[in-house]
Amino acid sequence: MLNTKTPVTVIPGDGIGPEVVAAATRLVDAAGGQIDWRYAEAGAEVFRKGISSGVPDETIASIAETAIALKGPLETPVGFGEKSANVTLRKLFETYANIRPVRELPGVPTPFSGRGIDLVVVRENVEDLYAGIEHMQTPDVAQCLKLISRLGCQRISLTALELARAESRTKVAVATKANIMKLTEGMLQREFLAAAANYSDLEAWHVIVDNAAHQLVKAPEQFEVIVTTNMNGDILSDLTSALVGGLGFAPSANLGDSVAIFEAVHGSAPKYAGKDVANPTAVILSSVMMLRHLKQFEAAAALEQAVFSTLEDGIHTQDVRVGKPVGTQEYVAAIEARIGRTSSVPSRNYSALKMPTVSREEARIEPASRHKVGVDVFIESYLTPDEIATKLQELIAPTPYSLMMISNRGTVVWPSTGGTTGCVDHFRCRFVIAEQSSWNPESVLGLLQRVGTTFRWMHVEKLENVDGAPAFTKAQGEN
Ligand code: NAP
Repeated sequence: MLNTKTPVTVIPGDGIGPEVVAAATRLVDAAGGQIDWRYAEAGAEVFRKGISSGVPDETIASIAETAIALKGPLETPVGFGEKSANVTLRKLFETYANIRPVRELPGVPTPFSGRGIDLVVVRENVEDLYAGIEHMQTPDVAQCLKLISRLGCQRISLTALELARAESRTKVAVATKANIMKLTEGMLQREFLAAAANYSDLEAWHVIVDNAAHQLVKAPEQFEVIVTTNMNGDILSDLTSALVGGLGFAPSANLGDSVAIFEAVHGSAPKYAGKDVANPTAVILSSVMMLRHLKQFEAAAALEQAVFSTLEDGIHTQDVRVGKPVGTQEYVAAIEARIGRTSSVPSRNYSALKMPTVSREEARIEPASRHKVGVDVFIESYLTPDEIATKLQELIAPTPYSLMMISNRGTVVWPSTGGTTGCVDHFRCRFVIAEQSSWNPESVLGLLQRVGTTFRWMHVEKLENVDGAPAFTKAQGEN
């Protein structure tokens, strides 16, 4: 007989993972989902076997083959050199869009009940500070690189706009810290607003991310879709899950061009493992998202409505602080018994999400002009800014460069601004050239050699004007 079921890789995971994932697979089957479950392992056991990624080759092969995974939480070892198995999976399959919906649930009272919260955070999932590129620049100063690409901004913006359409929503906000990080966070703001211009059916606006956090607590009902960078999205989406009852109710999807991984936002909650108390709703609702992704809309709505009906009937686990809770197993059985019922909260009208197809070539901008104007050299020193400037000026006198400014953690400390900035042992020294023709690799190496005779330098950035505008920011207090 022909197997019409869709193969899905299922990873039970760690801690409460096996209990909540078993609940989800059982309920998907009961709701009429047509899934061929293929079990695979990842997480703590795998780390213990000595596989440092936490994800064995067979699991990677299974996800590559099925293209869809339902995953339990995976423990991240603390204090070892190992990377997070979760982050490994997201990056390995370039699942660049992390979709985190929250909705006010019947029978789950919160300080926000009655406000009609129903929103989605669309978090960029593979860039930003999560690239994990860190260096100790001096023994006392650490650096983490925040990498944001135009391709990353374009595809996450388009995903948010397409998601709004697929879920019959009317507005999308982009939340960034573009006021401070003009080039990185600013790139998402600019690319989103440019992309949104082609979606005249949707209202689109920019909100500064700290105000977004404030507004989410003050008036969360104003938001429908929020698109944001990785780190901001991590924080905002934990906040939004708390608005509707906590992590036990927060599902998510990690979507890429070829692979989609569905999982609860929460972790392995080890203290609840094996105690029949964990809330399986988050992973059950993640499997509802998975069914919609597979266009199994009827099974998705049946399962979602059964969850809503169960909660509406006052049946819930111990993390809902009203009435008498039931155990995980009893809760799952109650949901199963309600498949076929509808609740007072209708399911949204969903259609298939059209994932964007942006290629690296399409996202690329080819500038008409690029001119080198100088170089930033980062040095370690315990001298005062004036002492550093005097020595540097002596050292570079024979070169075509002149010292323009020195900053300490981004604030100008030479020439003096009259401020009282405290300094650590890490200075950025900005050297500029008068003549474009004097900028060449040899002159930069000559500069570094001279600076290096007196100071330990650890980092160099070329300074360029692109299409007439500086492709670098000014320091705080720089004119
Ligand atoms: P966590 O496992 O999410 O647990 C934090 C708290 O959230 C729990 O103590 C509990 O709160 C509540 N909670 C979470 N899920 C729940 C559920 N299903 N039912 C009831 N309560 C739930 O976060 P963590 O303690 O920071 O992390 C534990 C491990 O999970 C770590 O190794 C971490 O790296 C990993 N992790 C994995 C993922 C993932 O796989 N995607 C995500 C996050 C963390 P109360 O104490 O208030 O009851």
